[in-house]
Amino acid sequence: MTSQTNYKRILLKLSGEALAGPSGYNIDPAILEQYSKEIKEVVDMGVQVAIVIGGGNIFRGVSGERSGIDRVQGDYMGMLATVINAMAIQSSLEKHGMYTRVMSAIKMEQVCEPYVRRRAVRHLEKGRVVIFGAGTGSPYFTTDSTASLRAIEIEADVVLKGTKVNGVYTADPMKDPTATRYTTISFDDVYEKKLNVMDLTAFTLCQENDLPIIVFNMNETGSLLRIVKGDTDTGTLISSKV
Ligand code: UDP
Repeated sequence: MTSQTNYKRILLKLSGEALAGPSGYNIDPAILEQYSKEIKEVVDMGVQVAIVIGGGNIFRGVSGERSGIDRVQGDYMGMLATVINAMAIQSSLEKHGMYTRVMSAIKMEQVCEPYVRRRAVRHLEKGRVVIFGAGTGSPYFTTDSTASLRAIEIEADVVLKGTKVNGVYTADPMKDPTATRYTTISFDDVYEKKLNVMDLTAFTLCQENDLPIIVFNMNETGSLLRIVKGDTDTGTLISSKV
């Protein structure tokens, strides 16, 4: 860690949908390229980076249910989709000169390592970017919950939730033009005001373990780096100390 950084170890949560770019489906090479450059900037500063990637651009268990696929089966399909995204990010990060490991919660030895907490921490200590695939390995969970869980397990300093919006607003900014962004807000206030940050399982895990979350716009160039450097005006910080 250099003196310019606010965090030693971060857990970056990226949604599958974001990876798809404007089409909403598949993987957009331009987005991969942009994300890799942004991630490299923080890796080069000596920050340890772990990533959890969603699978919504490929498959979601809930949507599968609507087309007649059993929910649990669909959830496993969703988890496999996250591994496809993890491998895509891995390739792109490596192309940009970073060392990486994909660790999956569901064993698939030919394509990636199985998730073992101690090994994940060791990889991070060696400066490798660790990408957690296959969610928690259990149906009925989300990749947001995976992000909270893995962040707690590896003792990350913060969960950085990269979204298409630059933080948490008083109301939906798409619908309400008077909506304003919080720069900081407490876990209790998010809960009481029913603000949509993460699903409740994911949110509660962070709250109970006193793990701060920063919601920010991953598509805004330079925002990841600004947050890591401690810029308090980028995104929204959710913590117990507000
Ligand atoms: N999923 C699951 N267990 C997990 C993580 C994910 O069953 O621990 C499944 C679930 O069906 C989910 C899909 O994988 O809909 C893709 O994950 P998610 O919806 O969180 O992706 P994102 O919205 O971030 O793209």
